[in-house]
Amino acid sequence: MSRKRFPCGHLGKGKYCHACRAAEIAAEKAAESKATDKKKKALSEAASRLRAMGVTGYEGKPAGVVSRAADLAAGVLDGRMFGELRARRLVDKRHVVAIPVGRNHRLLCIDAGDAILPKELLTHEAYNGRIYQY
Ligand SMILES: [Zn+2]
Repeated sequence: MSRKRFPCGHLGKGKYCHACRAAEIAAEKAAESKATDKKKKALSEAASRLRAMGVTGYEGKPAGVVSRAADLAAGVLDGRMFGELRARRLVDKRHVVAIPVGRNHRLLCIDAGDAILPKELLTHEAYNGRIYQY
């Protein structure tokens, strides 16, 4: 099979230009790794915000959840708790307050009397088991 000239100007064999395809793949990979870096940066920023607020349990959680939890925890500390954040007190433990973080996670908070403090980010399942420790 002889080499031909593709519309892009490259010489090559086959149905499409392998030089252009390779460049496309490289560009896609570069964009992907840039997006991954951005996500990692956002995740570590949200994690350190939570750490600074004394919240545990963010390790290994999805970036979106950690980031949302950091915003919610900041809202809790700002006193924007009930109504706006859909916070709920436990029926049998009124000092335990839970805020939904997406569908599968909860931000567990403790009512310390003069303030409500965000404590722990949990999956919904872990939350159901953990609340009895508080
Ligand atoms: Zn080409």
